[in-house]
Amino acid sequence: MVINLVVATKNPGKIREIRALLEGLGYRILSLEDFPQFPPVEERGETFLENALEKARAAARYTGEMALADDSGLEVEALGGAPGVRSARFGGQGLTDADRNRLLLEKLRGVPMEERKARFRCVMALVTPGGEEYVVEGTCEGYIAMEPLGDHGFGYDPVFYLPRYGKTMAQLPPEEKNRISHRAKALAGIREVLERLARR
Ligand code: IMP
Repeated sequence: MVINLVVATKNPGKIREIRALLEGLGYRILSLEDFPQFPPVEERGETFLENALEKARAAARYTGEMALADDSGLEVEALGGAPGVRSARFGGQGLTDADRNRLLLEKLRGVPMEERKARFRCVMALVTPGGEEYVVEGTCEGYIAMEPLGDHGFGYDPVFYLPRYGKTMAQLPPEEKNRISHRAKALAGIREVLERLARR
C-alpha cells in the first residue's frame, strides 16, 4: 500500500531536496502545490520547533494525510543568532534572495573570516493523521563568505562558506549539498521514522 506524505511547503527548492532525499521509501510525496486551497500558516513561533510543528499539524489536519514540515534558517554568531527563525523575512518582505545576501554581507562588513561563523539549522516535524508527532533536527556548520559565489541551491547558499570544501554551498553540486546539509541530516532522522511507520 502506498502511503501519501504531504510535504508542507510550496518552496520549490525545498520540495526538490526533500523529494530526492526521501526517494525509495515507498511513500507518494505530495506538496502544498497539490492542495492550492490550503491557507498559509503564519510562522508566529519563536523557535524552529514551534514553527515546524505548527505547519505539520495544520497540513495533517487539512489534508487528512501524514504531513512533514520543516522550519529552517541561518544563524550567524556575530549577529547573535540572527536572522534565525526570521531568515525568510530578513530585511523585510519583497526582497529577493540576492537582496538578502547583500544585506547580510553589509551587516558583516569588516568582520574577519574567523568571526563569521554561522550554521544552517533545520527542524522537521512529522505528524500522522492519528495525531502522532515526531521531531528531528539537523545542523550544518560554516562561515559567511566575503562575497556571494555559485548558482546552485537557494536562499543563503551563495554566502555560506564550507571550509572543508573551500567552496560555498551554492558551488556544490546538488547531490553533494544533499549529503551534508542541515535538511539532509534532519531527513535522515525522518527517514528512519518513516521506515518504521511503513512497516506497521
Ligand atoms: P522557512 O521556509 O521558514 O524554513 O525559511 C527558511 C529560510 O532560511 C529560507 O527562505 C532561506 O532563506 C533560509 N534557508 C533554509 N534552508 C536553506 C538552505 O538549505 N540554503 C539556503 N538558505 C536556506
